[in-house]
Amino acid sequence: MSTTVTEPQRHVSADQAREVAEAAREKEWVAPSFVRDLFLGRVRMDLIHPYPEQDPDDERRAQPFLAALETLMREKVDSDRIDREGEIPDAVIDALRALGAFGIKIPREYGGLGLSQLSYMRAIELVSSVDGSITALLSAHQSIGVPQPLKMFGSEAQKKKYLPRLAKGAISAFALTEMNVGSDPAAMETLAVPSEDGQAWILNGEKLWCTNGTKAELMVVMARTPSVFVKGKEKRQITAFIVETAWPGVEVTHRCHFMGLKALYNGVIRFTNVRVPKENVLWEVGKGLKLALITLNTGRLTLPITAVAVGKRCLEICRGWAGERVQWGRAIGKHDAIAQKIGSMAANTIAMEAVAELCGAKADQGGYDIRLEAAIAKLYNSEAGWRIIDDTLQIRGGRGYETADSLRARGERPIPIERVMRDFRINLIFEGSSEIMHLFIAREAVDKHLQTAGDVVMPGKSAGQRIAGLGRALLFYGWWYPSRWLGWSRWPRYAEFGRLATHMRFVERSARRLARGVFHAMMRFGPKLEYRQAVLFRLVDVGAELFAMAATCARAHAVARRDPAAGPHALELADLFCWQARGRIKAKFQGLWRNEDQHTYRVAQEVLRGEHRWLEGGIVELE
Ligand SMILES: Cc1cc2nc3c(=O)[nH]c(=O)nc-3n(C[C@H](O)[C@H](O)[C@H](O)COP(=O)(O)OP(=O)(O)OC[C@H]3O[C@@H](n4cnc5c(N)ncnc54)[C@H](O)[C@@H]3O)c2cc1C
Repeated sequence: MSTTVTEPQRHVSADQAREVAEAAREKEWVAPSFVRDLFLGRVRMDLIHPYPEQDPDDERRAQPFLAALETLMREKVDSDRIDREGEIPDAVIDALRALGAFGIKIPREYGGLGLSQLSYMRAIELVSSVDGSITALLSAHQSIGVPQPLKMFGSEAQKKKYLPRLAKGAISAFALTEMNVGSDPAAMETLAVPSEDGQAWILNGEKLWCTNGTKAELMVVMARTPSVFVKGKEKRQITAFIVETAWPGVEVTHRCHFMGLKALYNGVIRFTNVRVPKENVLWEVGKGLKLALITLNTGRLTLPITAVAVGKRCLEICRGWAGERVQWGRAIGKHDAIAQKIGSMAANTIAMEAVAELCGAKADQGGYDIRLEAAIAKLYNSEAGWRIIDDTLQIRGGRGYETADSLRARGERPIPIERVMRDFRINLIFEGSSEIMHLFIAREAVDKHLQTAGDVVMPGKSAGQRIAGLGRALLFYGWWYPSRWLGWSRWPRYAEFGRLATHMRFVERSARRLARGVFHAMMRFGPKLEYRQAVLFRLVDVGAELFAMAATCARAHAVARRDPAAGPHALELADLFCWQARGRIKAKFQGLWRNEDQHTYRVAQEVLRGEHRWLEGGIVELE
């Protein structure tokens, strides 16, 4: 094995990109996962039912902090002003610091509040119900910024040095994205090479869209380090460094501005010959991407709970407005078209909460692999949250499109749904775009099949490998495949779920159908399946809906047992959610083999080649 620095490439091949992603992937499945089993056709309700409860001690300790945070958000935060001025007042940031809001999950021994993931999520829910920019400030700091990877992968010396500072409110950031590095990190150009004296790394490059970057004292910076050559084959290395922004050579060259989140402290950060002490490598050289992926397993749970907060806010807005606004002789909420939206909104909000909190609780309990659940939570809640906001804006009619300031100026209640929509849209793009989340989940959904039958169907395997693989595959599929057709998923299974039992039985039946679908897709398309994204995405969407159904049933069941007043309402909402999800699942299954995917793809390529430019006539061309 040798190491060397090769020239960064602007564009890497698909194979190189895949190799980098595969190298960073967590390959082992040590702990159980409901979703992993779901894609294999097994419904392990024992993993999520009874719905996990928060640790009472943690809940009790979090209570005063959450109460103070709520007061701060209600009394001291003027979100319209933050949106208008593009700044979070220093007094608000200082008040957050004083509460410990920058060290919610940092252990008490390092000066943090030492609270759980669930308590952190409850704090984010409160903040998100008021202001998206403050959510981003707190979340970029503690879901992907320095504290979380440092807590998980840092040495004791690193923790002692940095965690107390971070807990007190030294703002941190996470810098991965570059001009040519978005969803795919393989083409990373920021480079760190060993210094001549061997005591440090010399960092050069430029990072784009670094949230908190213009205010941060500390950053996790991802950089390429010299490639390793194994049997003559280059293995690209990406390493994570803790960088202090006060060091010479670190410079903010531009503050970026966006459609929403107007007070995001997001910038372009340039590194010019920055000397990073070798003690500041996080985890190990070459483990940077893996560190980022593992950190994001829990880091991703911020956005799902943000969607929950926004769903609740939209419900509150619609409950008031659709009840009082009269058109055509009735409150608009009595018109069927509007009522349909409101009913779905309530059903989706309980589901989003069930999904998000289940992931948070499982992350806290440990002994459970939440990577797929968290990816689904991010994907599912950000998409559902967006639809809810869109519906709320529609229900508010013209007032939905009007800014809060304008509403206020002419004497109306300044309901800021226009701002909420602008602030929320980015959630479908960052921390893993919806497309990348689909691909991430799909990769794990087919993993068992690749392990079992990969040697038979994948190209580039020797005859010996294929024969050995065939034996392995026959042994596994000889039992597995027939058993995905058989199984009792009718009455009285899941009877304990009462009126929701029928949905649990549907989940059970559909999980087997999903597993067959994944298998059939692999058999039909072989190695080309990775290019049939529309097929893969439908399978992932079915898995996500089934997970959401199971989580919602488990949660409603728990609410019904714990709280006799809320119980019937929870069951009613869960029931509606499940019926609607079943409709969506059926449509996805139907579209699996009968669809317009290839036709659509062909037309898209024609568009890209300019063959349909005729259609663009009559408009002013972009420069
Ligand atoms: C407001 C904001 C804050 C951000 N904060 C941070 C931060 O703090 N730190 C940081 O490092 N980065 C940050 N980012 C970057 C963010 O994570 C990236 O925007 C995101 O990873 C997507 O990258 P991209 O925009 O370059 O899109 P691209 O990767 O260029 O993708 C463009 C489109 O193509 C799709 N696509 C890409 N690859 C595939 C594929 N293989 N199959 C199907 N579809 C695909 C994407 O989903 C997307 O829809 C931030 C960005 C914004 C806008």
